[in-house]
Amino acid sequence: MFESEYDVIVVGGGHAGSEAAAAAANMGSKTLLVTMNLQNIAQMSCNPAMGGIAKGQILREIDAMGGYSGLVSDTSAIQFKMLNKSKGPAMWSPRVQSDRMMFAEHWRLRLEQTPNLDFYQEMVAGLILEGNELKGVRTSLGLEIRAKSVVLTNGTFLNGLIHIGDKNFGGGRAGERAATGITKDLVDAGFESGRMKTGTPPRVDGRSLDYSKMVEQPGDEIPSKFSFLDETQPLKKQRSCYMTYTSPEVHEILKDGFERSPMFNGRIQSIGPRYCPSIEDKINRFADKDRHQLFVEPEGWKTVEVYVNGFSTSLPEDVQFKALKSVAGFENVKFFRPGYAIEYDYFPPTQLKHTLETKLVDGLYFAGQINGTTGYEEAACQGLMAGINAALKVQEKEEFIIKRNEAYIGVLIDDLITKGTEEPYRMFTSRAEYRTLLRQDNADFRLTERSYKLGLASEERMRKMEEKKEKSSGFVNFLKNKSVSHEDANPILEANNSSPMKQSDKIFKIFSRPNITMDDVRNFPGVEDYIQENNLNTEILEQTEIQVKYSGYIAKEKNNADKLNRLEDVKIPNDFDYSKIKSMSFEAREKLNKIQPTSISQASRISGVSPNDISVLLVYMGR
Ligand code: FAD
Repeated sequence: MFESEYDVIVVGGGHAGSEAAAAAANMGSKTLLVTMNLQNIAQMSCNPAMGGIAKGQILREIDAMGGYSGLVSDTSAIQFKMLNKSKGPAMWSPRVQSDRMMFAEHWRLRLEQTPNLDFYQEMVAGLILEGNELKGVRTSLGLEIRAKSVVLTNGTFLNGLIHIGDKNFGGGRAGERAATGITKDLVDAGFESGRMKTGTPPRVDGRSLDYSKMVEQPGDEIPSKFSFLDETQPLKKQRSCYMTYTSPEVHEILKDGFERSPMFNGRIQSIGPRYCPSIEDKINRFADKDRHQLFVEPEGWKTVEVYVNGFSTSLPEDVQFKALKSVAGFENVKFFRPGYAIEYDYFPPTQLKHTLETKLVDGLYFAGQINGTTGYEEAACQGLMAGINAALKVQEKEEFIIKRNEAYIGVLIDDLITKGTEEPYRMFTSRAEYRTLLRQDNADFRLTERSYKLGLASEERMRKMEEKKEKSSGFVNFLKNKSVSHEDANPILEANNSSPMKQSDKIFKIFSRPNITMDDVRNFPGVEDYIQENNLNTEILEQTEIQVKYSGYIAKEKNNADKLNRLEDVKIPNDFDYSKIKSMSFEAREKLNKIQPTSISQASRISGVSPNDISVLLVYMGR
């Protein structure tokens, strides 16, 4: 039925588990994906969308390394938008609206085509541990499956409890049962666990809505895509979303239900996502606001089901229904499914190393919502990293860690394991110190070669990245060396309210001026010919423009990052005993002993560890 022993078992086929299984298998490890329902692989539990601010950058990073989320997002997209296009490129964030059913189908088909990957549908009810030595997993039917490494990606399923109004029942997601057994085994083995909560809005029948009362939100006129590979193409047609608002009347109806709300009557104790609050939370916390925006999002190309973004709620279904009927355009609304909240177990991520391996049990990895994060992209990138490291461990190879200045993935993991999280953690651009370096356009420059060397990113991906790098830096050099006369330049400068030149100058310098764009530069003699002769596509032109316009910022951030990396290189020995450093504050000693940072740089990011404590530590390390 199974291999006598797998290299890697991945428990859970959500966003984290799917990436973990793909990565481990693609790196040559004999892998088994055990999940409760094979029909629901990479199911989008909440909003039918991928990417967005900071999350879009993560998806590009996953793709750059050879993960599948970007490719699947492209092939199941129904609308594309580059968010923040009016701001600097460090803020540009790709986002797609997805066809929910296609997304899950395309993930499953990709996984089925992945070599070295077996599947099994069952609930894992526990781990086989001999002492703290991991031997495999135990299923709810009593099967024992052996493995050298195990990646747990249980999402919201561990002891999941669903709430709708004053009703609650066990479940991992609407219509799916909760997973039991694993939490107990882990707590018995010495792990600390906690509870978190999240919620989702109702889904409604699009045929019952009056879109003429809403504002249309179309996709980009010239859509782009996530994957750096040519395998996927930008959308040729798109579906629109719509926007509408709640009103004081809607708020009054919702308030009437508060006493039956599990959020307010104390039934839900755990903390929910701060940046994705329920509608009842919003009207309670922002009582002065008389309306809140709602986005009406189609769930796919063909389905009539619609997702009501911004109306996440666990109020009784009759209250949800009555309130929504008072929203403009929803007067005749019919429900497909009510909104609900869910509480679940998570494991504080300070119990993990940078590889996402647990500190307590060798070969055991955690990825996704089990680590206290929220969001598909956050889950997927952790899955990728855990899958890679689980495979490397089995192959007895060096671990793979991404630094904070290399990727949002590095920021996310470092934040989690260094600071922990007491509320569902989601990624923001503001969490990254080096935003100008961590752009969506250069994720391949940052990560593809590293992944290729691991044996994950393909030859084709590596070749594409090299070609893009060569062509864009060739074009930058051309612009640095090529001059334009003031006679040729001045009409273009004047048209853009840019001061005229008195003599000729290098195009690179003129291009650095704020009002001058690539379209202007193309009018300078010789530039268009260079573009045509070298076959430079939009991606290369955009890349070149960013490299020219932001060269100052990029150099400055690189410099700062290099300084930080010097501290990163000052390693701290494993199991270092901080209690012996009496000149350090008690709080610092306690925190450092708990987190066990691997470098001085990581130590400096732990809350409660002061610059003074770091100076003491540096002296201790002989610096
Ligand atoms: P999941 O996608 O939950 O996948 C877990 C998988 O593991 C499932 O396939 C399950 O069947 C399987 N599994 C679990 N336990 C076992 C077991 N013991 N044995 C075998 N298989 C097992 N994110 C946001 O960003 N914003 C939101 O507003 C938001 N709202 C949400 C609302 C709800 C109601 C839910 C359920 C989720 C919400 N999320 C939201 C979270 C988002 O869905 C998750 O962050 C993301 O799906 C996590 O991915 P994951 O892979 O960690 O887990």
